[in-house]
Amino acid sequence: MRIFENFESEVRGYIRSFPTIFKKAKGAILTDEQDVDYIDFFAGAGTLNYGHNNDLISNALIEYLQNDGVVHGLDMATTAKKEFMETFQELILKPRNLEYKMQFTGPTGTNCVETALKLARLVKGRSNVIAFTNGYHGLSQGSLAVTGNNEYRDESYISRSNATFMPFDGYFGDFNTLEYLRKFLNDGSSGVDLPAAIIVETIQGEGGINVSSAKWLKELESICREYDILLIIDDIQVGNGRSGNFFSFEFADINPDMVTLSKSIGGGLPMALLLFKPDLDQWKPGEHTGTFRGNNLAFVASKVSLENYWQNEDLTNAVFYKEKVLKKKLEEIAQKHSDVFDIDIRGRGLAYGFEIKNDPTVAGEISSYAFEEQLIVETCGSQGQVVKFLPPLIIDEETLIEGLNRFERAITKLAS
Ligand code: PMP
Repeated sequence: MRIFENFESEVRGYIRSFPTIFKKAKGAILTDEQDVDYIDFFAGAGTLNYGHNNDLISNALIEYLQNDGVVHGLDMATTAKKEFMETFQELILKPRNLEYKMQFTGPTGTNCVETALKLARLVKGRSNVIAFTNGYHGLSQGSLAVTGNNEYRDESYISRSNATFMPFDGYFGDFNTLEYLRKFLNDGSSGVDLPAAIIVETIQGEGGINVSSAKWLKELESICREYDILLIIDDIQVGNGRSGNFFSFEFADINPDMVTLSKSIGGGLPMALLLFKPDLDQWKPGEHTGTFRGNNLAFVASKVSLENYWQNEDLTNAVFYKEKVLKKKLEEIAQKHSDVFDIDIRGRGLAYGFEIKNDPTVAGEISSYAFEEQLIVETCGSQGQVVKFLPPLIIDEETLIEGLNRFERAITKLAS
């Protein structure tokens, strides 16, 4: 289907899944040029936790611009930056007893991951990094080297030598996959070099909403302490309240050495923030810079979203409440179609996966049928076999249920 009638040959768009042109968006609703409304259960893969065009954020941005706030200030301190950092410190780090330095990297998630890997290597003087099967950390060369999906990896541009993949929690059913990791670390002749860092998502977003347990994460942390390895939690997709708590690792009570944040940290605008323990700040001045680090508009958007959603536990409680609604409905749908589809439902907070285990092609078809029902849902997993639910966290219950009804109609159409 041709989307951009006159210049399709000149653009490469990400429009295979959702063949229309969107012109407006508000909250959890996207509207296309034909004035058709769609419920958005994708939310920019976790970028729009506070919804499209959140009034609080839009108004703060308008006010900032009308008052001639600094939009770009390379190598300068700005009021917007100072205020964001103070707010993040007060509302996020302090109540959780977390001590981190903040480094603003290039604007996207992959820039943040690259920075974390580079700093870990600098600090430890080692190049290997351990990452996990089905993990996703970005597609530029350094982050791609730790992304565990061969769909994206090509021998010609990937340096495989400085990353070792280990099985993620649950990769072999009930078998404790960290036994492998310990074995390799103990066995100096295995070919697995002692890594500078281990990088992991607590819930693998692109990899299929694979959820690690608190026990596994705690054991991973103690392995890092035992072997002098830095623990990097990649919270780019499931941080910022997506799993209920602000950080996705809070439920496991661990204290990572570094945390990568992007997507929703900028309130919908491009921003990436690396948090690291103060003693890791071993950069020489100017050693890791870039022109578009720390977008001032994103600081403004982020500050107002932190102030409005993270002063108390309201958003966390709302996410856990809506999780129950989502999970119950998905289970009912799975039950109704259990004679045709073998379905596994998993997730935490408002990050859920609906895997069709007996036929990996079905999830993509459900996504297309859902689009016809005016619902935006994406797929994830190594074979695209999982339908992914990531609605904006601020979605109201009625819209959430309506979206789930549309999903049900889509799967019913397919099953019949
Ligand atoms: N890490 C994780 C966990 C992600 O989900 C993503 C993006 N899906 C990235 C890193 C890369 O972010 P970006 O696409 O902004 O480079």
